[in-house]
Amino acid sequence: MYFISTEKVLKDRGHDGVPALQTAAVSFKEAVLRCLPSEGGLFVPESEPDLRSFFLHMGEETTFQELTAAITSHLFEGELNPLSASRVAEKAYSFEPELIQLDDSFSVLNLYNGPTGIFKDFGINFLAALLEELLESGVCMVVAAARGNTGVAIARAFQNRRDITTVLLCPDEPIYGLDKTTYANQGGNLIPIRIKGNLDDCQKLLSLLIHDRKFSERYRITAANSINPGRLFPQSFYFLYSFIKLKKHVTGELVYSIPSGNFGNLIAALYAWKFGMPVNGFIAAMNANNSFSEFIKNGTAGSIINSKPLVPTITPTLDICNPSNIERLASFYKSAPAVMRNMVFPESIDDESTLNAIKTAWDKYGIYLDPHGAVAFAAAQKTANSRNFNGHIVILSTAHPAKYADLIFKATGKTLSIPEHLASLNYRAEPIAEIKADLEALESAITGCF
Ligand SMILES: *Cc1c(COP(=O)(O)O)cnc(C)c1O
Repeated sequence: MYFISTEKVLKDRGHDGVPALQTAAVSFKEAVLRCLPSEGGLFVPESEPDLRSFFLHMGEETTFQELTAAITSHLFEGELNPLSASRVAEKAYSFEPELIQLDDSFSVLNLYNGPTGIFKDFGINFLAALLEELLESGVCMVVAAARGNTGVAIARAFQNRRDITTVLLCPDEPIYGLDKTTYANQGGNLIPIRIKGNLDDCQKLLSLLIHDRKFSERYRITAANSINPGRLFPQSFYFLYSFIKLKKHVTGELVYSIPSGNFGNLIAALYAWKFGMPVNGFIAAMNANNSFSEFIKNGTAGSIINSKPLVPTITPTLDICNPSNIERLASFYKSAPAVMRNMVFPESIDDESTLNAIKTAWDKYGIYLDPHGAVAFAAAQKTANSRNFNGHIVILSTAHPAKYADLIFKATGKTLSIPEHLASLNYRAEPIAEIKADLEALESAITGCF
């Protein structure tokens, strides 16, 4: 698979007289190692391969590792042989997605069985294993802008990898779950830096750093955020996997309900569809911060600009005002606006309905849903009722319910105990350095660590 910049997709095919960008497509490997195209924008595939012959006939007994190995070797055709692809799959995944069919109308796809209990473990652990394989004997530096759960997930996946120095750009707020013995100044490979600013400032800084080509080539810098296609694409694998498990058991339309913040998961789902997965649509389930509904309905650039202030909710990872993947989403709309309008359905769910959905899932099906999964469930119920829908909806459950034991208690009166591997993520940690949100300050902090 080859990648081009969203700049090319969004400008080239426009009727606004902007001249075509004369940039060549890069290989998947190069896209993973460079992360951002030098002309700006994000990497998107030049065209998507048809993978139907690779997964449509896989049986229900296929493991997630097997599916990952097969698809990976095809996506990296000519760059990773089947043996390397199997090694990546094996190293990345000691855990599997879990599909549970609830009844004729709903299934739940549990994506929280990874080391830190959030679905992001799937993309992050794949990227870490992939980088080791692609580097062979080289070294590189991975930089990530992340807070809370995502920061810990990245730290856990990348810590103790000898050839990969990992810089975490943490916004100015308490940091949890990092292990001091893995820090670079203690002989490890982790460099957590607190940036005096918010997550947006960290993301901007990361982009500036990668675009400083002299510096980023010197240290071979790439990013572990979902702007990196090596983290985004493996998220399409669990959609294919759930399809294999379901195909014999459901009839009629098939729809996925996805709790959406930065839209990484939604975009990965759209790629699964492009790879040939037979599906009828996706629900972009948002909380009260749904300014992107307009954009999803129309796909017009004007509606990208978000003017509504953020409201805090019980699903903070969905409280996003500036989705980092918006250019990728826009490029889908640019090439096929009518298809997108009939494929992606925005829904907005308030906190009260989220708590009600946690209660319904417990009362009706005996399962615990974390609040993000509950947003998806509530949106799925709304869709099932409103569209005269006669098919099956898969609800993505993106976080371990025990991480939200207080809300589960509030909704159901049940007390969940926190598994040891998740409890250990909750202690306070300190960064190695604290700097202002400034490129020069960041570069000298990095240089100072060597
Ligand atoms: C990050 C996150 C989301 C949102 O996923 P996006 O790909 O950013 O849309 C949903 N649920 C949980 C638990 C998350 O951590």
